[in-house]
Amino acid sequence: MFSKKHICGGCGEKVNARKAPKGSLLILIILLILFIIPGLIYLIWMLSNRQDQCPKCKSLDVVPLKSPRGKALAQQYS
Ligand SMILES: [Zn+2]
Repeated sequence: MFSKKHICGGCGEKVNARKAPKGSLLILIILLILFIIPGLIYLIWMLSNRQDQCPKCKSLDVVPLKSPRGKALAQQYS
């Protein structure tokens, strides 16, 4: 059994956040087709700027349970 390390500010679920790449896949594809170099820079930027995402509601408002905001959210939703 995995212990949940994060809480979602969107749906209030305790979750294990997944890492979602920042930015838009559509923009990446357009950039790669039209301008190769900015497209590659954008791809690298996307991969290096991953952010926590709620696996349930896809909200990016995911905070660690141990943080002050995480504790407040856990109380609010319990
Ligand atoms: Zn959520």
